[in-house]
Amino acid sequence: MPMRLRENISLRAYHTFGTEAKARYFLEFTDSAELADLLRENPRLFDPVLVLGSGSNLLFTRDFPGMVIRPAVTGITVEKEDDHHVWLRAGAGVVWDDFVRYAVEAGWGGVENLSLIPGRVGAVPVQNIGAYGREAASVISSVTGVAVPSGEIREYGAAECRFGYRTSIFKEELRERFIITSVVFRLDRVPELVLEYGDLRNEVEIKDEAGNENENEVKTGDEERDKVKVKIKAEVEIKKEIGDEGQNDVEAKISSTNRFDHQVAGPGPVGGHNIDITVTDVREAVIRIRRRKLPDPSMLGNAGSFFKNPVVGASTAARLRAAYPAIPVYPSGEGLVKLSAGWLIDQCGWKGFRKGDAGVHRDHALVLINYGGATGKEIFKLSEEICRSVQERFGVDLEREVIVV
Ligand SMILES: Cc1cc2nc3c(=O)[nH]c(=O)nc-3n(C[C@H](O)[C@H](O)[C@H](O)COP(=O)(O)OP(=O)(O)OC[C@H]3O[C@@H](n4cnc5c(N)ncnc54)[C@H](O)[C@@H]3O)c2cc1C
Repeated sequence: MPMRLRENISLRAYHTFGTEAKARYFLEFTDSAELADLLRENPRLFDPVLVLGSGSNLLFTRDFPGMVIRPAVTGITVEKEDDHHVWLRAGAGVVWDDFVRYAVEAGWGGVENLSLIPGRVGAVPVQNIGAYGREAASVISSVTGVAVPSGEIREYGAAECRFGYRTSIFKEELRERFIITSVVFRLDRVPELVLEYGDLRNEVEIKDEAGNENENEVKTGDEERDKVKVKIKAEVEIKKEIGDEGQNDVEAKISSTNRFDHQVAGPGPVGGHNIDITVTDVREAVIRIRRRKLPDPSMLGNAGSFFKNPVVGASTAARLRAAYPAIPVYPSGEGLVKLSAGWLIDQCGWKGFRKGDAGVHRDHALVLINYGGATGKEIFKLSEEICRSVQERFGVDLEREVIVV
């Protein structure tokens, strides 16, 4: 595809909230060198710049006065391999779940828990996507792209990416200053499965215990499913709140006994049951859970979890526990405690709230919704009201996970 520059483009179809916003310029490219040349020749076109993937973590509150760039670099290639690992380079324009499916079909491990997260490969390092106990940081080997405004093509090694909980150098210092064109992922030839999060082990074992194919099981195995659920629940404390797709699963790990820790794929007893679990089983289980629990943005405008889970000091946590004994708290590194943003918002009575076409999902307090005609500003205003009420009631500041433009 040749580089394509357009003007005054509606972005409505390019982001999952589906609100109206326009871009002054809109550029799609496949060749990084061509992009670098244009940048050097016309730097003013790129001031300001916004890189767009699938728009599943963005809220537009205004028209964008500069250049919206959508990398269309595709392709997945084997960069190198050894006895233990395979390094795959994927173009920034590859749909993330296509990449996960590719890896899983080859039997390589590391990304199966991240199945069905919306978006493109280029955005994966930006907020270090995570779900079901896995973060992209654990498999990213390097990130390549074009610097703005110099046009220099640069590679960042994993350590330079400064990955953190839903963040990286690309979301902070390099925001709007680096256009990611490809990412190299290091996958395991012998997968180490991570199953100790949320409902995942439970869901995987439902299939294997019943000995059915997933689809059949889902349709016919309800009774068996219930039996298995009861057994597994006795073994692992499961936090069921899946508002923030991965984060609450991290919480589940922390609160679990960790008895099963990492499970190397292959035959053997798992959680007391003799079953073989593969990366395909994990992917299918994640997909089933996500389809059951999360709103589909093609049906209901949303960007997944709108807020991050707040991390507070031990003294704040102690104060909150004294006042609210039921508050979920999870250790989060030295002297720090993670709270559940979903719980805090829910306690303030926001679940199911709707004003005009902007609202809060009825099952997920973390997910803000555009019911059709909401503007970005209305959704943003709602998010501010939510932050304010959580601050007033709990004295805790919520931070947005979604990028507000
Ligand atoms: C229903 C739903 C469920 C979700 N579940 C999860 C989940 O489980 N875990 C999770 O972590 N996230 C989740 N998300 C959020 C979102 O899917 C991820 O953050 C995803 O990686 C965003 O990809 P995107 O291509 O849509 O990026 P966009 O939304 O287009 O962009 C996000 C940010 O990345 C920047 N960016 C995008 N591409 C590039 C590039 N090539 N170079 C430089 N910067 C770039 C953008 O400028 C922006 O700042 C969910 C969203 C939805 C709607």
